Formats: sequence, structure tokens, C-alpha cells
Amino acid sequence: MPDSPLRVGGFVPFTSIDYPGELAAVVFCQGCPWRCGYCHNPHLLPARGHQMLDWKDVLAQLEQRQGFLDAVVFSGGEPTAQAGLPQAIRDTKCLGYKIGLHTAGCYPERLEKLLPLLDWIGLDIKELPQHYESLTGVPTSGARAWESLALALRGGVPLQVRTTLDPGIPAQHISRLCRLLKDMGVQDHKLQEYRPTDVPAPNPIHLAT
Ligand code: SF4
Repeated sequence: MPDSPLRVGGFVPFTSIDYPGELAAVVFCQGCPWRCGYCHNPHLLPARGHQMLDWKDVLAQLEQRQGFLDAVVFSGGEPTAQAGLPQAIRDTKCLGYKIGLHTAGCYPERLEKLLPLLDWIGLDIKELPQHYESLTGVPTSGARAWESLALALRGGVPLQVRTTLDPGIPAQHISRLCRLLKDMGVQDHKLQEYRPTDVPAPNPIHLAT
């Protein structure tokens, strides 16, 4: 049975800041299994949103922009939560675009299969693995994110690791995390400013794909 089409919660047709050095469009994928308190896209967390876009329409827009853009970034939500992501990436690659992926590393086994299709990854590493649950609400999240990191490094895809400086994370954790990343061979690690949000994240869910 074919995978269901990508559920798209938003589309930005032009950005110069979401894929290093390239002009890109961003496809915001609907749904994320984690519930970080500082999430700025709470409307993208449920598996289905109120204002979803049809993937075919998004693809048609990307077709129109061929020659004007270099890359398409799949962001979220959590793109790898969706079984339709690999086909959506293949459709986009057929138009000649480079492919970027923003991910929190929720599904390492899926990320591993995607690696041959990717040109760049922006991966959130939020905390030391043993302290992830306090941020995401999900017990296995730390092991999954750090496994995704190891796989991405092994796969050799250009990688930027990002860490949001949530004030609840002790400074010792951040310095230990920075050392660990360096020891693992991460060359591009960005510490992101924490921006508080007024909208509480709903409870963690199991996403159907
Ligand atoms: S991993 Fe956290 S920050 Fe990223 S989309 Fe999911 S809830 Fe939001």
C-alpha cells in the first residue's frame, strides 16, 4: 500500500537563513511526538492541523520556483514522524533541489534510511541524553536524539547541531554537552537563544503515520 501523502502544516516559499549558503523554501511538516516547553510551533504538534496544505499544491509551487531556489528544507513539527516523508523528498529531488532536513532526531531508524537522500541536516541536541525527558516529556527521547546524531555523523551528511539555551538546563550540562559533541566530531554546533512562549505544549502523544 502506498504511503499517505505528506501532511503539510505550512510553507515558506523563500528563505535565506534556513539552509546554510543557499536560497531555500521551507516545508513545515505537521506532527511531532515530543512536547518541549519552549516549542514555538505548537500548532504543528498534533498529527493533523486546522490549516493543512495539500502536498501536491506545495510541489506545484516548488516546480514554479525551479531556477530561483537552490534547496528545499523539510522542517516541522518533526518531519521524520511521517511515513510520507521519503516519497516527498524524492519528488522534490526530481525537481533538482538540494534537500535539507530539520529534525530533533525522534526516529533514528528512519533518519538512517533517509541519509542517502539528504544534502544537509540541522539536528537539535537539546540536553545530555539522561536529562531529555524533563524537556520533551518522553522517556526515550534522549537515547533517540543521540543515536540520530551518531548515525548522521557516520553517514557523512553535512550537519549543524543546534542547542537551545533553556534557562532550566544547568550550565554544567551545556558545557559537558559541548565537550561531548566536540569529542564525537561535530564541527558545527550552534547555541540558540531561548525565547519564552506563552502557549503550553500539550501532552506527549503517539503519532500515527
Ligand atoms: S521536538 Fe520539541 S521543539 Fe521540536 S517540534 Fe517537537 S515539541 Fe517542538
